[in-house]
Amino acid sequence: MGERPLEQKTCKACNTCLEANRSKEAKVRAQVLDHYGWECACCGDPQAEFLQIDHVDGGGSQHRKEIPSTYRWLIRNGFPDGFNTLCANCNVGKHINGGVCPSITHEGRYMTASSRVITETRAEAL
Ligand SMILES: [Zn+2]
Ligand SMILES: [Zn+2]
Repeated sequence: MGERPLEQKTCKACNTCLEANRSKEAKVRAQVLDHYGWECACCGDPQAEFLQIDHVDGGGSQHRKEIPSTYRWLIRNGFPDGFNTLCANCNVGKHINGGVCPSITHEGRYMTASSRVITETRAEAL
């Protein structure tokens, strides 16, 4: 008598839906990492759960504000150049350090226009 079964409602929070959503996101992410690589472009860390896609020339946060899902955007745009896989450590380090990963153990592996200048300046100072 007008009673609608609960399971036909679209839910945003039940475990089944969260789980389904998560595996969908994981598949999208896997497609992107298949293209950009499954290890950090800076330190070579292959720990998949820490890998993020980084905008090589910076502006990643700006970009993320414009696009709700970077992964989907990358797929839709045919995996454009200018993006790299970075682990969470290198990504955060790079942004805090003004575009260059601050770790001396992987210094110079991840070369952008700005990091090259800094590496050369350091070499001259030595
Ligand atoms: Zn790294
Ligand atoms: Zn690094």
